[in-house]
Amino acid sequence: MSAAVIDGKEFAATLRARIADYAATFEQSAGRKAGLAVVLVGEDPASQVYVKSKGKQTVECGMASFEHKLPADTAEADLLAVIERLNNDPAVDGILVQLPLPPHMDEQKVIAAINPDKDVDGFHTTSVGRLWTGLEGFVPCTPYGCIMLLKDQLGSLSGLDAVVIGRSNIVGKPMAALLLAESCTVTIAHSRTRDLAEVVRRADIVVAAVGRPEMVKGSWIKPGATVIDVGINRLPPAEGESKGRLVGDVDYAEAAAVAGAITPVPGGVGPMTIAVLLRNALVAAHRNAGVALADGAL
Ligand code: NDP
Repeated sequence: MSAAVIDGKEFAATLRARIADYAATFEQSAGRKAGLAVVLVGEDPASQVYVKSKGKQTVECGMASFEHKLPADTAEADLLAVIERLNNDPAVDGILVQLPLPPHMDEQKVIAAINPDKDVDGFHTTSVGRLWTGLEGFVPCTPYGCIMLLKDQLGSLSGLDAVVIGRSNIVGKPMAALLLAESCTVTIAHSRTRDLAEVVRRADIVVAAVGRPEMVKGSWIKPGATVIDVGINRLPPAEGESKGRLVGDVDYAEAAAVAGAITPVPGGVGPMTIAVLLRNALVAAHRNAGVALADGAL
């Protein structure tokens, strides 16, 4: 068997086109653009790349992008003051503080300072509570992107056995909540899980969010299962290469020979994250401006 390839790049491009359409309609109704503010503290190179890419895609979708770049030695109180200003700025619908923050800052305290109605990353404890209780709120972008891909691929997920490997607040836990909300039977595996291979073998849906290159082997996958690989790992450069290859947490070649469908790395889950961020910002804009958005529109 050779698995169907789930093309996240194409899915994300289609989603962005839809967001651009709805962003234009929003601007006409509200008399202003939907706005997303991104706050970056310090000069972490990966964070700089993400922030640049987020700003560019926000503008391409017809939304306003506000970038706040603060030096690495910014006092926590000064960052909190920036967030407070953004909370009170009617042009800003969504606020994202790029993580990780420098070590002298308390991430939880900073996230807690964001108005939950502008928490487009879905990391505020209010957003987490809303997700687990089934209330309307913001869902972290990467897992939401995964659930979109899964529903597009499989239709109803009801009754399926799902195994999420990883229990981080950013991916694993919200992923499990979303699968549960789709009526899957969910197992959350982590570094202490006994006989992980056996646990994964039960799954109709496997979501790997570990951060260990090619850890999930083809022999662990139930034939026909759908495999969502969240991991992004750069291998050391092979001889003659300047940069190592990007691989996921799943051994793609092995798993693709057994699975029914699988996301590649790159080009699977990765492109979905920013697209969902823009989607969340536009949903926030509709709610904040009191402009109706049809159910399931985005
Ligand atoms: P974390 O490091 O926060 O969490 C990793 C999880 O994997 C932990 O729960 C850990 O368990 C578990 N784990 C570690 N080793 C093993 C093991 N040997 N067996 C089973 N479980 C294990 O990572 P994130 O959730 O933030 O990210 C996971 C991956 O997803 C990374 O590669 C990251 O780069 C990628 N990512 C991709 C995104 C995208 O846009 N596509 C966005 C976010 C992340 P324990 O809790 O017991 O320590």
